Amino acid sequence: MSRVCVIGAGLGGLALAIRLQSSGAETTLIEAHEAPGGQCRSQTREGFTFDSGPAALAEPAAVAELWQLAGGDMAEDVELLPLELLHRFNWPDGTLLDVTSGIAGGASDGGAAMRREVARIAPDDAAGYEEFLRWSDQALREGTAPWRVAARRDLTNLARSAPMFARHQAWRSAYGTVARFIKSEPLREAISLAALAEGANPFASGAFHALDHKRELDHGLWWPKGGFGKLAAAMASRFEQLGGTLVARDPVLHIHTLGDRASEVECVSGWRQRFDAVASSADMMHTYRDLLGSSNRGPEMARKLLRRSFAPSMFTVHFGVEGSWPGIPHNTVLMGQRYKGMAQDIFEHGLLPRDFIVFLTHASLTDPGLAPPGKSTFRAKIVVANQAQLPIDWDQAGPLIERRILDEVGRRLIPDLADRLVTKFHVSPRDLALDFNMWAGSASGFAATRNQSVWPPVGERDASLRNLYFAGIGARPGGGLAGVLTSARVAAKRILEEQR
Ligand SMILES: Cc1cc2nc3c(=O)[nH]c(=O)nc-3n(C[C@H](O)[C@H](O)[C@H](O)COP(=O)(O)OP(=O)(O)OC[C@H]3O[C@@H](n4cnc5c(N)ncnc54)[C@H](O)[C@@H]3O)c2cc1C
Repeated sequence: MSRVCVIGAGLGGLALAIRLQSSGAETTLIEAHEAPGGQCRSQTREGFTFDSGPAALAEPAAVAELWQLAGGDMAEDVELLPLELLHRFNWPDGTLLDVTSGIAGGASDGGAAMRREVARIAPDDAAGYEEFLRWSDQALREGTAPWRVAARRDLTNLARSAPMFARHQAWRSAYGTVARFIKSEPLREAISLAALAEGANPFASGAFHALDHKRELDHGLWWPKGGFGKLAAAMASRFEQLGGTLVARDPVLHIHTLGDRASEVECVSGWRQRFDAVASSADMMHTYRDLLGSSNRGPEMARKLLRRSFAPSMFTVHFGVEGSWPGIPHNTVLMGQRYKGMAQDIFEHGLLPRDFIVFLTHASLTDPGLAPPGKSTFRAKIVVANQAQLPIDWDQAGPLIERRILDEVGRRLIPDLADRLVTKFHVSPRDLALDFNMWAGSASGFAATRNQSVWPPVGERDASLRNLYFAGIGARPGGGLAGVLTSARVAAKRILEEQR
């Protein structure tokens, strides 16, 4: 069986490595950092555990499947805690909207709680909301699947998927799709906002970005006890139990090529090894420009990729506070004064908007072990333009933006926040670029615009180097964690089929 090298132990690389190793490929997973997890890593400061990746896990079955492949049960290693309330939307005028899945307690309420919220906040939209749910249901069941999981995003598959794109009016934006059914502006914003949380513009991403609402109602949202860093560590140890080799704290420096093949991988330490196939789950620009920099293919592809548009970045403030806040749910979205204008500032004008949408995560509410007794762990995230669009000095801007975000949280939720702070730090686009080799600090690789999400695909295999593959957020732009896990499934299938 073939020997495969996977570069990068984020959730994408870990998922791919487990799939390959459990199918008999001798797999070596190389990570630049000491701990696995990539964007999903955890840090501990003054007794608080801060998680840097997603605010919750949607569709946990995609992760549980990895344990099944490894011959185990996810519950042996990771406990998934359900979120009772999925999101609370909080507008500056005091309007609140709670999104609940109704499955947290076990049996589904069939969306009854959410329907009551719609009737309360937008009584004229009750029928439109039902129609939107029916559209989502149909798109999820029969529509998006062939394209989402297509092993090859080629012209044949595009042609096969064209009737589905037409039937579901996939050319519309997420916001435009929701607006087809719903008149209330707050409801339109709340439903289309998931695109923004994943780094896509709700006014320019494709229609299928509007499907997260229904997906979350059906499957709920879950928090891995201990945080996403713990989930990543559990995946890494399952991979090693399967016999896989994890090389940590040794960044890959070069992928050497011979003819039309990636032949060897060389790390900073000088470690160098031959492989039958190489799969990178590190940033795609980094892979071509830096790791393949001495080949013909690397610079050629890097030039091509520069013509694409890149997703925005994130600015995150982590803070631990004195006191318990049972009234602040796991996920609160502090909406700003503007929605479309703010999205235009980020995505089109490359400006730092004067108002923000703050995604606030109160992880210790769901998982009290993340904070010392009587204290709470929070994370506030805003979406900002990437460094290519907004080339500011984050050493100077970072503390100012951190202050603005904390002031906003204090003004709207925790009035004496400044006095209660025990510890705080922020992560800027520059940190993401330096820590993870992410091009321009873009948190999601290529922008998930209507065009780029469909054609030309970036794909899971290089067109010239026949044994060079990709997995992770770079290979499936805009899909969030679900896209990352799908790309790992598709890349594993291709490697196992093509490199036996
Ligand atoms: C603040 C924040 C909030 C987020 N919120 C959400 C959310 O709500 N919902 C959602 O779905 N997603 C969210 N995401 C995105 C999600 O976390 C990512 O899409 C996902 O974790 C990406 O996984 P990945 O494995 O593709 O990439 P990464 O996690 O970036 O992993 C890539 C790995 O490659 C390693 N690497 C890079 N270069 C090299 C090299 N030369 N040699 C060896 N290793 C290398 C890196 O160290 C890293 O570990 C968020 C991300 C951030 C930063």
